[in-house]
Amino acid sequence: AKAAGPGQYRLFNRAFSESFEDSLKLVQDLRLAIQERSFDLVYQPQFAVASGQVTGVEVLLRWEHPERGPVPPARFIRLAEQQGLIHDITRIVLEKMVAELRGCDLLGTVLQRVSINVSAQEFGFRDYLDDFFQLLARNEDVCQYLQFEITETAIMSNLEASLDTMERLRRMGIRFSIDDFGTGYSSLHLLKRLPLHELKIDRSFISDLPHDANDAMIARTIIVMAQSLKMRLVAEGVETEAQRQFLADNGCDEMQGFLLARPMPVEQLHKLLNGG
Ligand code: C2E
Ligand code: CA
Ligand code: CA
Ligand code: CA
Repeated sequence: AKAAGPGQYRLFNRAFSESFEDSLKLVQDLRLAIQERSFDLVYQPQFAVASGQVTGVEVLLRWEHPERGPVPPARFIRLAEQQGLIHDITRIVLEKMVAELRGCDLLGTVLQRVSINVSAQEFGFRDYLDDFFQLLARNEDVCQYLQFEITETAIMSNLEASLDTMERLRRMGIRFSIDDFGTGYSSLHLLKRLPLHELKIDRSFISDLPHDANDAMIARTIIVMAQSLKMRLVAEGVETEAQRQFLADNGCDEMQGFLLARPMPVEQLHKLLNGG
């Protein structure tokens, strides 16, 4: 800091305040996008490793900014969480998803499972939750096909409220998946306490398979663990045939990744599922 002259110091300050202003502007635009519901959904199919059949889809959100173009979800989701806007986003995802899948008559016919990403931060707010439960109750027939993906870290940060809410949702027929499994902290004890159907091994453990001995060992351990907990295991971010082969040889149930299918709009999903 001593070596930096006053000029450099000012430069640093300006860079900081610019990116801060940039985030403020983005938050404003995000609020507007929420009001106008100007988001799109894409669906990424998941496949049984053994048969290659589609088992379900994960819904991913897309935001095309009028001037900036597509904003990465990791960025605007984090902003939405910080600003208390994530509830609104989850609601939009749920409503749009139901409308799109109903429109194509996919749910309960050729599609038996649809996963959406939720943030456990949402499970703590009573006022909001009443609203959310009402929305789900109005779409009661969808709940049996619905799965929520949630991270360990999010659950741990709000354990008691999460347990409560998950139990209530489970009674409505909704299932749960732990997203990015292996990157957070959770104990076997916790995993057994939660109403879980599925674990998703994080992409970071998949990308260097099969040659990275460490990752191979971790992947095998998680596969065996899921088997003994009687949970479905989904590998995410599968990009190569060698990765697919490793997962098949080691008894992983399902996979998702660019090798098999990219996230796609509902029309394309419709074609894929109806053999077009
Ligand atoms: P995630 O839940 O772990 O989603 C998987 C991400 O990996 C998606 O990125 C997907 O497009 C990408 N992906 C899938 N297969 C491959 C592959 O083979 N290789 C690589 N390199 N990437 C692959 P995306 O759509 O950019 O989403 C990033 C994150 O943003 C998601 O991570 C999730 O945490 C969050 N997100 C996306 N949509 C929603 C949403 O509707 N609600 C919430 N709360 N979060 C969302
Ligand atoms: Ca996910
Ligand atoms: Ca994930
Ligand atoms: Ca992730």
